[in-house]
Amino acid sequence: MEFDSISTNSLEDIGTCCLPCFALQSKRELFFKSDTVSGGGVSASVPPSAAPPAPPSTLKDALSKRSATLPEPQETNHVEANGIATKHSNSVSVDVSKPPSTAPPPTPAPPVPISAPPAPVPTPLRSTENIMKKAEHPPVAPKPDLPKIEKPKTKELDGYVGFANLPNQVYRKAVKKGFEFTLMVVGESGLGKSTLINSLFLTEVYDKDKHPGPSLRVKKTVGVETSVVLLKENGVNLTLTIVDTPGFGDAVDNSNCWQPIIDFVESKYEEFLNAESRVARKAAPPDTRVHCCLYFIAPSGHGLKPLDVEFMQRLGDKVNIIPVIAKADTMTPEECKDFKEQIMKEIGQHKIKIYDFPESTGEEGDGADVTKSLRARVPFAVVGANTVIEQDGRRIRGRKYPWGIAEVENLEHCDFLALRNMVIRTHLQDLKDVTSSVHYENYRCRKLAGLSHDGKPHRTNSNNLCPQGLMNSFMTVWNPLAQMEEEKREHDLKMEKMESEMEQIFQTKVRDKRAKLKESEAELARRHEATRRALEAQARELDERQRALNAERAAWERDTGLSLDDLRRRSLEANSKETVDGKEKKDKKKKDWSFKSVATGISI
Ligand code: GDP
Repeated sequence: MEFDSISTNSLEDIGTCCLPCFALQSKRELFFKSDTVSGGGVSASVPPSAAPPAPPSTLKDALSKRSATLPEPQETNHVEANGIATKHSNSVSVDVSKPPSTAPPPTPAPPVPISAPPAPVPTPLRSTENIMKKAEHPPVAPKPDLPKIEKPKTKELDGYVGFANLPNQVYRKAVKKGFEFTLMVVGESGLGKSTLINSLFLTEVYDKDKHPGPSLRVKKTVGVETSVVLLKENGVNLTLTIVDTPGFGDAVDNSNCWQPIIDFVESKYEEFLNAESRVARKAAPPDTRVHCCLYFIAPSGHGLKPLDVEFMQRLGDKVNIIPVIAKADTMTPEECKDFKEQIMKEIGQHKIKIYDFPESTGEEGDGADVTKSLRARVPFAVVGANTVIEQDGRRIRGRKYPWGIAEVENLEHCDFLALRNMVIRTHLQDLKDVTSSVHYENYRCRKLAGLSHDGKPHRTNSNNLCPQGLMNSFMTVWNPLAQMEEEKREHDLKMEKMESEMEQIFQTKVRDKRAKLKESEAELARRHEATRRALEAQARELDERQRALNAERAAWERDTGLSLDDLRRRSLEANSKETVDGKEKKDKKKKDWSFKSVATGISI
């Protein structure tokens, strides 16, 4: 289920600045008109949408040219609403009907609508009105007849005021801020996703050592992983986020393998919605939404697989899908052409929504023609290669075979250049705009209406489908006071939850501690009991021994007729007698020695 609505992007957003509201609106309508994509699909008649001016070849040059022209706007050429290039001066009033007298303008002039488009009346609640109608709400009071707003007349100025310089201001601001782009690659492992990403940005986004490609990180289940690289080209910074999905389509049973991807895409929308809905919000919340999804189709030559159909059907209204035929060098040009036709036919049959490249990017002349011809190449049959081959003094990125080289950047060999030009050079901002004004808006409407991604009522918010629920949702988003209340309530709830969690943790800890204390108490008692028993056993044994000894002694006394005391006395007497005898012998020996020494004259 899709709903149109008006973009809510801030005015600071360069895309929004460059694209008037009606252009986005028509783009949304156009996008969802792609139900009718047929064989040629993308060549259906599409109203041209205004796009940002093509960037100059070198931004440095352009910036210096611009800054050189800014302080002295006297010589500024610009294109008036009537399309005639005129020269204006600060001091001199120039007849605007005069043709330009100098060289071409130094900077690309901003696209100025020649006449106001058939303006759809801005109806900010359009999408939600649709929801309310679908939910059969009580009839809303008829709108009062508003006075018709007259279109303001264009007035020619007599001199140079300076607002023609506005695009330059926006340009400088955008360059200073840098750009963000999130590219998702989905497809079975081994189809050449990492090789193509490296070829697209002419750098090792997937560094083999630091960041192996998806197939080297294949998991049993589908994972969603992001890697961020900061790219710089001619002073313009691009924060490129690559989202890959290792494991997609690699299992035996691939049912629901798209779910982690849907969850990821929607979680990014949710992050953005939360950031946008805060009372104290940033002027431009970081845009991490997925802007483009390159879906890799295996070069089977037999059309789409059921998994391809299922994935693109489910994701088509959530993200800009660009189908890509992998490893196009494995097919002959005729096979490739037939395969493309088959794929586009099936995309039409299954009502798959793919990103519809707008025919015009605001470029004039050759640029527009080239865009048209590149657009006809969808689905892009690409060849990826990380190797650069030297041939005839030329350095070619390509794949070398015994029969020749498949050149990556040759439109006769594959559609790589078409894909790179369309995605990066000409349509990057449009991809971001469609993400913001179509997919994100649809998500936002679904979210506010309490619907889940499949359009069914959200389990937790099912009551929001009632008129009161819807009104509450709208009030919350569009009424700052209600929003503050809501945030306060959320905060209180969070605090309460935290408190009860802490209480629970405390209780659990106390319970654990008590249980441990009880355990150690029981252990101590057990040990005490064991020691007591051991001591008692020892005492008993000693008693036994004492008794045995006494009995032995009594028996001995009986046998010998002696008592132990008698025995002791006798032994003492014998000892003392021995001592006296020993002493007498010693004295006698001494006397003999002294007599001998006197006789010999030797002193001892
Ligand atoms: P991933 O798993 O989808 O990221 O695939 P890789 O980029 O790791 O590529 C898997 C294998 O296919 C590698 O051996 C690549 O050299 C090869 N490969 C990548 N692109 C092409 C291509 O366009 N044509 C051919 N024939 N082989 C390719």
